Amino acid sequence: MKMQVFTVENIPLIKEGDDIASIICENTTIEDNDIVVIASTIVAKAEGRMFRLEDIIPGEKALTIASKHDLDARFVQAVLDRSKEVLVDYPIFLVETHNGHVCIKAGIDESNVDTGHLADLPSDPDESTARIGSAIEQITGKNISAILTDTNGRAFKIGQTGIAIGVYNIHPVKNWKGQKDLFGNILEITEEAIADEIAGAANLLMGEGDGGYPVVIIRGLELRSEESSIQEMYRSDREDIIKKGLRCLSKV
Ligand code: GDP
Ligand code: MN
Ligand code: MN
Repeated sequence: MKMQVFTVENIPLIKEGDDIASIICENTTIEDNDIVVIASTIVAKAEGRMFRLEDIIPGEKALTIASKHDLDARFVQAVLDRSKEVLVDYPIFLVETHNGHVCIKAGIDESNVDTGHLADLPSDPDESTARIGSAIEQITGKNISAILTDTNGRAFKIGQTGIAIGVYNIHPVKNWKGQKDLFGNILEITEEAIADEIAGAANLLMGEGDGGYPVVIIRGLELRSEESSIQEMYRSDREDIIKKGLRCLSKV
């Protein structure tokens, strides 16, 4: 088996209003079943989701959380504004965004953005991914999938990896239930987080610094399928024992 993973070269610094689908298509050749992996940072920039701390007035909760950390209260307010729930406020500041994504500081980025500005995650990552993915299909006439990524930590291990926050035409979880192992045993529960695995592979080429590689193409996998959503990956509140545990920790 073989798959190819390669960067799209010559992507410029993205500005508000830029057409990411056209920029990708101008700089690479797309084939049927390609998975186009896009760093959320450039989508945030193109969507104009940049903001400045000067424009934020922190409330009481933000001031309290900020005093526990070495954080600007205006930044904490920005995180609260983008959060459905604070899961842990100290020593890490872990929230669930309005979209259901659990991450540190609501995924607000200070790196790879204009000085003095912060970048939000796209507010509806599936919608952003579908808009760019379907525009690529229109331009190229090819049937593709797309994944929007961000860099995230994990609960039990040191080190961040690329993870999926939005999908287009690819189910994020592959269910192996009912299939056989090498010895003919029927698999009972294996669910493979393929969107995160792909995001991790792509992130290896993107890096986190000044590489300038926000788009990676994965070729050779046949995983395209319509009507997909990142929500398929998020555990329901009822099933999520980690969140239940975190809620038991004290917070403001
Ligand atoms: P995130 O993981 O979505 O938060 O994005 P990162 O800040 O880690 O950046 C991922 C990759 O995209 C890195 O290689 C960056 O250098 C690159 N990158 C970020 N913004 C831009 C941009 O506007 N233009 C280009 N060409 N690369 C960018
Ligand atoms: Mn990020
Ligand atoms: Mn990153």
